Amino acid sequence: MKFLMVGAGLSGAVIGREMAEAGHDVTVIDARDHVAGNCHTERDPETGVMVHVYGPHIFHTDDDEVWEYVNRFMSFEPYKNRVKSTTQGAVYSLPVNLHTINQFFGKTMRPDEARAFIEEQADTTITDPQTFEEQALRFVGPDLYEAFFKGYTEKQWGCSPTDLPASILKRLPVRFNYDDNYFFHRHQGMPRDGYTPMVEAILDHPNITVRLETPYDPSMRDDHDHIVWSGPLDGYFGFEEGRLGYRTLDFERFTAKGDWQGCAVMNYGDRDVPFTRITEHKHFSPWESHEGSVLYREFSRECGPDDIPYYPIRLVEEKAMLADYVARAEAETNVTFVGRLGTYRYLDMDVTIREALDTARAFLKSDATGAAF
Ligand code: UDP
Repeated sequence: MKFLMVGAGLSGAVIGREMAEAGHDVTVIDARDHVAGNCHTERDPETGVMVHVYGPHIFHTDDDEVWEYVNRFMSFEPYKNRVKSTTQGAVYSLPVNLHTINQFFGKTMRPDEARAFIEEQADTTITDPQTFEEQALRFVGPDLYEAFFKGYTEKQWGCSPTDLPASILKRLPVRFNYDDNYFFHRHQGMPRDGYTPMVEAILDHPNITVRLETPYDPSMRDDHDHIVWSGPLDGYFGFEEGRLGYRTLDFERFTAKGDWQGCAVMNYGDRDVPFTRITEHKHFSPWESHEGSVLYREFSRECGPDDIPYYPIRLVEEKAMLADYVARAEAETNVTFVGRLGTYRYLDMDVTIREALDTARAFLKSDATGAAF
């Protein structure tokens, strides 16, 4: 069969590879001039630092098969994401852990004491938190919420945390020990030469043709048996039901000598600091050594028609519109919608790859039984 992958990010590359290995003919197109979507990396020409062009991407997973899959195409270096937050005039460790709690409240509590202390602060009348704010007030109480989450979240999402779902905060743990690893997955690392060569390696197969700077055109359907769409779901339907809301990011790049901030990611919790975080890219490749340094100040704002979509907002309005688009997507024949943009979900890279492998397997199973997919 002839497949067209629209989008050369993780979804398109992994599904394309699986189908190519099964003997199918695969074309992968992307409107941009590089593969790897928003996890694209490139070396900064001035400093030689590996830059995460669309913001930091740290690979972490509990899925052994996904971990083996990515390691097949690129060797990974050990990397632990340790994030700091500057707020109310001090620097703290994230995710909120025993060090953060003791430092913030000027105490020397042991784990059980801290647990009891936070439980006293927490609003225990909230039994089933629905919103971001309820989740925060229930699990960390008002002071830590104000310092670390309220301002940051208002900047990141452009709305009140009372309008956001609790699921966004559930991404972050609260720890009553000194473990400051941002992620709790068993596998964590960075691709040695960056994500773009990893995706190029996935796409490097005789049955795969990659065409960059090639936007999708509906006439391409005529030449292919099946389309795998990893572009924006609403974009496929010409935005006929309206535009699904996204946040986009602006990066203000600056350079420095040596080590400017001492860590890869410094979040800024105060509402009056306009950016959400500063990333110092050399720290994402701690096995390399560079004299110069490249940093990005990260600003979040509403995504316009010509901007790059990053975070799906999924508020009430979007959910109703999404239901309409999902119904239309399900009614399409010979088109499968995949990935963060194609399914309008906040997906980590490992989940994207897991779903891509599952989608490819479902294709192959249908192909073997002659069923439509
Ligand atoms: N968050 C926050 N303060 C922080 C870091 C995160 O309030 O210092 C909130 C914010 O709303 C964010 C969410 O927690 O969107 C999830 O954080 P994560 O670090 O997973 O965000 P990502 O790296 O995907 O932008």
